Amino acid sequence: MNIHEHQAKALLKTYGLPVAPGVAIFSAGEAEAAAKSLPGPLYVVKSQIHAGGRGKGKFKELSADAKGGVRLAKTVADVVANATEMLGHTLVTKQTGAAGKEVRRLYIEDGADIARELYCSLLVNRESGKVAFVVSTEGGMDIETVAHDTPERIITVDIDPAAGVTAANVSAIASALKLEGAAKADAATVFPALYKAFVETDMSLLEVNPLIVLKDGHLRLLDAKVSFDNNALFRHPELMTLRDLSEEDAKEIEASKFDLAYVALDGNIGCMVNGAGLAMATMDIIKLYGEEPANFLDVGGGASKEKVTAAFKIITADPQVKGILVNIFGGIMRCDVIAEGVIAAVREVGLKVPLVVRLEGTNVKEGKAILNNSGLDVIPADDLDDAAQKIVAAIKGKQ
Ligand code: GDP
Ligand code: MG
Repeated sequence: MNIHEHQAKALLKTYGLPVAPGVAIFSAGEAEAAAKSLPGPLYVVKSQIHAGGRGKGKFKELSADAKGGVRLAKTVADVVANATEMLGHTLVTKQTGAAGKEVRRLYIEDGADIARELYCSLLVNRESGKVAFVVSTEGGMDIETVAHDTPERIITVDIDPAAGVTAANVSAIASALKLEGAAKADAATVFPALYKAFVETDMSLLEVNPLIVLKDGHLRLLDAKVSFDNNALFRHPELMTLRDLSEEDAKEIEASKFDLAYVALDGNIGCMVNGAGLAMATMDIIKLYGEEPANFLDVGGGASKEKVTAAFKIITADPQVKGILVNIFGGIMRCDVIAEGVIAAVREVGLKVPLVVRLEGTNVKEGKAILNNSGLDVIPADDLDDAAQKIVAAIKGKQ
């Protein structure tokens, strides 16, 4: 689960981390009071969307020379003018895709005088099996570009889970970031506190880009991106209140209600599969035959007819889907349950695209008979390879 920058900063502040004062607003009417509550004389008006690259982003509805999604303002009136221009408009950044994201809330923050912009993130290093700091002196910009062009400028410091962040770790990070004076002194509290926040709230990513050195020499978190590990969220009911459903894919929200493992993707072929491994293999083979999957979907082992119906409806509701591939290897999952679920869904919502079904395993005869007798226009397939070729051919035939 991702949260907004202002929520991440509020959370990190409770760990004693240095963040600027700020106020989140949902309408332009709140902008003036928000700005007046801050010290000034510099303010920042920041779009709150679940995507990075906002500063360099562009608003779809505004002219090409309009400013991006993070704007400096020098007066209260300037804050109000920028807030009015930004709210309700669609911000397109490197991370949003071409469709962009509507800005529904802003964070009005006290402006910082920046001396240096650094990069600092915490993540799970899968090679070492430890939580690690990844830091670089090249902050503020696209870290992927730094990783690609100058990988030696990115330094990873693994943290031993038993020892936590040691003085030696802090020193390694501080010297990688070339911290001196007040910033170096701040490092002794900032990095352990970041680690504590990460571990205690079960984050999967904590990215501060940029972490800045202020003109007065101290450290400050200028941006904050936090993702929590969904599998641990049950331990943190208080964090669930931070969820912003308007930022999430409607199909994924629907799928989560039925406990379906569903991830929306960009392709044309909707997939309904049981088992994560088979679902991955199905996506691979669709790609092998030259098309792209519209989703990852694992209906799970013992899915009910209702669950299968819900899954099929989510797939057919996606206007991008030009064909559907059902690939079931019945073990605990019975093929007749799948067939009934598919038919129930088609009765409710119709079927406007080609449907290829490959059934194998438990109750396969019953499943095939149910589909055959349904009068549905199903293209049967014998194995995974055959199924993938048939669905790709079927959607090509329609184009
Ligand atoms: P992102 O573009 O979504 O990563 O948003 P950031 O919060 O990282 O802001 C983008 C850039 O705006 C930063 O790298 C800074 O250069 C600039 N910026 C943000 N806040 C301030 C501020 O308080 N003062 C100044 N001078 N620049 C800021
Ligand atoms: Mg940033």
